[in-house]
Formats: sequence, structure tokens, C-alpha cells
Amino acid sequence: MEDWGAALQPPSETLEEIRSELGDCQRCRLARDRQNIVFGSGSPKAKLVFVGEGPGFEEDRQGEPFVGPAGQLLTKIIEAIKLTRRQTYICNVVKCRPPENRNPETDEINTCFAFLERQIAAIQPDYICALGAVAAQTLLNTAEPISRLRGRIHPYKGIKVIATYHPAYLLRNPDRKRDVWEDMKMLMKEYPYEV
Ligand code: URA
Repeated sequence: MEDWGAALQPPSETLEEIRSELGDCQRCRLARDRQNIVFGSGSPKAKLVFVGEGPGFEEDRQGEPFVGPAGQLLTKIIEAIKLTRRQTYICNVVKCRPPENRNPETDEINTCFAFLERQIAAIQPDYICALGAVAAQTLLNTAEPISRLRGRIHPYKGIKVIATYHPAYLLRNPDRKRDVWEDMKMLMKEYPYEV
């Protein structure tokens, strides 16, 4: 049996403490070209956390996650499940923009992932929606393609993880929106909270 919903211990640190330890992070090469660290935004008590890959151009400029074109689509997805961005928490696997929007490399992910894990431990959500292959594969520690990870629920430290396509991928492949809607319907069916 899965150990779901396991906020067994109160969080040992706050998001502010984690952000403060990150400081002016120079732990990997992504620090070199970034304008801003994109730590995350939303409710520190969110029941649902969205995890993307890493900041793009607009996110790097503003220091906020998902504020560019993919972010606008994410906002619509969140509103379609009758939530607001502020009720959720939104963050990324890596907190600095990879140059030319390339995928983050394994050592960059490994360096930054500890901070994501601590953010998740501080929030103690019941659900995580992993947006795209990088987030899903990192959280679930697997190399399975996103096409096979989506459509079902996976465990991560007692939290239910739903993986779906990244909104930037949807902008290029709008026919996949149907699959994301199926994933969101699965999430809504699961989600036990008043909205
Ligand atoms: N893509 C991501 O993965 N994260 C963002 O914050 C923006 C675009």
C-alpha cells in the first residue's frame, strides 16, 4: 500500500529560510548568465505544487516562474481546474535560466534538486503536477518518457505526482492539449478540497 498524504512531521524550515540559504547562488554554471534566480511563487501552504523545468527568457527577466507565453497557458490550465495561481505553488527543477533555453544538464539538475526537495518538504503539498519530462523524470527518478508517465499517479515521498506535458510543448503541439485535459480531469477527480 502507498503511504499517501504523509505530512508526518511539521516542516523543519520555511520557504524564506531556504531562499535565504540559496543566496546569490553560484553553485553551478547557470549562475553565469542569469539575470535573476527564479525561486518560486504562490502559497506556502499550497495543496498542489506545479513543477516546471527551468526559467525561460521572461522568467529570468522578472524573477518569477511561468510568466512568459508558456506561463500564460499554465494560468489557463490552473483556471480550468477551478483554482488560481495564488492557491497553488509554482516552481522549477532548476532556478536559473539555461542559456538559449537548452535543457538543464544532469549536474545542474543534481545541484539544484536539493533545493526543490526542501521547498516541497516545507510546503507539504498533497499533489504535485510535474510539467514535462525534465520535472517528471527528476522527481520520479526515472528515464521513462513523459508519454508513458502521464495519465497515472505516481508516489513521491507520500505525495501524489501527476505528470503531464509541459505548456511550452503544448504551444508547439496543440493537439496534445486533449491529453493534458485528461490529466487535469484525473487530478480534479482526486483533489478533495473545496475550490
Ligand atoms: N518553462 C519552465 O519550465 N518554467 C518556467 O518558469 C517557464 C517556462
